[in-house]
Amino acid sequence: TKTYLTGIQTSGMPHLGNYIGAIQPALAAADSNETLYFLADYHSLNTVKDPAKLREDIRSVAATWLACGLDPQRTVLYRQSSIPEVFELATILASVTAKGMMNRAHAYKAARDRNEAAGSTELDAGVNMGLFNYPILMAADILVMEADVVPVGRDQVQHIEYTADIAGAFNHLYGDTYSFPIPEGSYPEGQGSVLPGVDGRKMSKSYDNHIPLFMPENKLKKLIRRIPTDSTPVEDPKDPDTSVPFQLLTHFAEPERTDAVRKRLEAGGMGWGELKNELFEVLNARFGGMRARYDDLMAPGSELDDVLAAGAVRARERARATLAKVRRAVGID
Ligand code: ATP
Repeated sequence: TKTYLTGIQTSGMPHLGNYIGAIQPALAAADSNETLYFLADYHSLNTVKDPAKLREDIRSVAATWLACGLDPQRTVLYRQSSIPEVFELATILASVTAKGMMNRAHAYKAARDRNEAAGSTELDAGVNMGLFNYPILMAADILVMEADVVPVGRDQVQHIEYTADIAGAFNHLYGDTYSFPIPEGSYPEGQGSVLPGVDGRKMSKSYDNHIPLFMPENKLKKLIRRIPTDSTPVEDPKDPDTSVPFQLLTHFAEPERTDAVRKRLEAGGMGWGELKNELFEVLNARFGGMRARYDDLMAPGSELDDVLAAGAVRARERARATLAKVRRAVGID
């Protein structure tokens, strides 16, 4: 069997788009593969400088995945920060990584391009070494677990290539003693499913157009009511396919229910308000049970910390084994 490894950003409570695009597929993959999912909390440290927020976000993201049905017996769920071997390996990998390659990394180049476009003379302004080193740390996350497959978005292609390059450089030098398995990326077919946010653009935290998965019921209701719609009168026919609430409905309602709503909108007689009530009911029914579970997990003293601790023990066993081989190979044993 192949080992799948996925890093989960710890940047606040996931939204409906994350559920469709990341959580659901990852939970499905866990049914038939060996899976290791980790909370990339040290990656977040590059951008989040508020300790209380970081602490809360880590718990919130872990609780979300568990509430959505991640089975911690089957999937090894752990915090990146629980595995010191990741950071030791990152140091070793840095010694075989060309700086020139890092200069060409997309995230770093994008930051410099932004500075250039803004007319700044210091192109590295605002760039910390955490951002610059990010691809090495990511390579360590993957290689320390000897992962075979890394399911990621298309924006991560370069990072996977870098990981393969870095592993290749290591293997070239030390392959007589130890070789990393070269991991491959697994990318969503075609466009994948992109959920729109309340303003019709791709749902995203950065656009602030997202619907958090487990927002309290009354807030969810208010947020759905505020989704902009045109002023077509109730009795007039409407085009469901240009309506954000309808598109959201199609992702979460039973197909028969969606079809019935489509017919009523096209025929006229169903107002946007009623459509929004329908969407609220569907989302509330779909996520209500998970929300209750999420709230339980977020309560102080819940089993959340124990689950993460148990995952860390299992993940560390793997990481230690890899690092013992790597250290022997490089001559630091
Ligand atoms: P940010 O705005 O901070 O980049 P985001 O909300 O756009 O955050 P990401 O962290 O970029 O989310 O993505 C996490 C995962 O969720 C990725 O696998 C991504 O493909 C998926 N995802 C994010 N937004 C959507 C969306 N609107 N529809 C489908 N999948 C999504």
